[in-house]
Amino acid sequence: MTAKLIKGTEIREEILEEIAAEVKEIKEKNGVVPGLVTILVGESPASISYVTLKIKTANRLGFKEIQENQPETISEEDLLALINKYNDDDSIHGILVQLPLPKHIDDKKILNAIDPDKDVDGFHPINVGRLMIGGDEVKFPPCTPAGIQEMIVRAGVETSGAEVVVVGRSNIVGKPIANMMVQKGPGANSTVTVVHTRTRDLASHCKRADILIVAAGVPGLVKPEWIKPGACVIDVGVNRIGEKISEKTGKKIAILSGDVDFDAAKEIAGSITPVPGGVGPMTITMLMKNTLKSLKFRQGIA
Ligand code: NAD
Repeated sequence: MTAKLIKGTEIREEILEEIAAEVKEIKEKNGVVPGLVTILVGESPASISYVTLKIKTANRLGFKEIQENQPETISEEDLLALINKYNDDDSIHGILVQLPLPKHIDDKKILNAIDPDKDVDGFHPINVGRLMIGGDEVKFPPCTPAGIQEMIVRAGVETSGAEVVVVGRSNIVGKPIANMMVQKGPGANSTVTVVHTRTRDLASHCKRADILIVAAGVPGLVKPEWIKPGACVIDVGVNRIGEKISEKTGKKIAILSGDVDFDAAKEIAGSITPVPGGVGPMTITMLMKNTLKSLKFRQGIA
């Protein structure tokens, strides 16, 4: 069997079109657009490239976008003051602080200073709590797990009663996606197992999974024989395993691999996400969706 490919690049386009149409409609009816501020501290090339992509996507969707590029030397106090400025700005619905921050700044203090109703990354403890409660309490599901759930749903995979196994227990992927899949409601209602570095027999758990979500950051961790025939496999891992010269630009680029042995797994799974082009493109897409949601909550139209 050759698995159906769940392509994040295609699903991203579908969702961005839906968001753009909604933004246009709200602008016409209510005269407002979603406002997103991206706060970048320092000049790390990786952070610059992530922020640039977020800005480009926000502009494409017709959002108001403010870029706050601050020097590496900014004090914690000044950064907190900047966040408070945007907490008080009614035209801003989402505040995004690009991580990592310089060592002299306490990330936790900064993220906790963001108004939870503008925390479109969903990392504030209040939003983590809302996610745990589930249902109508949830405002901003964290973007990568929200993207994973959206892919599963849009691929037509049944989640109700399904055995979901999540490999990894990080706060940004493993724990939140496990929490989301176990909730009562559409795209969830699953029976969830979370496995990690201290799990005794990883293979036996993975073999049970109707939906296997892997977020470990270990290339090739999941072997083909661990996959139940017909399962849906979501490979979140993004691992740099080498470099090559790009045919398009002639520049050096990273060779990426997921956590699953893709070539062998696609012959056993029912559906599978590729790396790159799978979960990766979904994160920024869901950030845009959360920013639109924030505007709708503010306008009382959500
Ligand atoms: P993390 O390092 O914070 O957590 C990894 C988790 O995997 C840990 O809980 C650990 O217990 C578990 N793990 C590690 N090795 C294991 C092993 N051998 N057996 C069982 N469990 C093991 O990582 P993270 O932030 O959750 O990210 C995981 C992967 O997903 C990384 O490759 C990261 O680059 C990728 N990622 C991709 C996106 C995206 O595509 N948008 C977003 C976030 C993370």
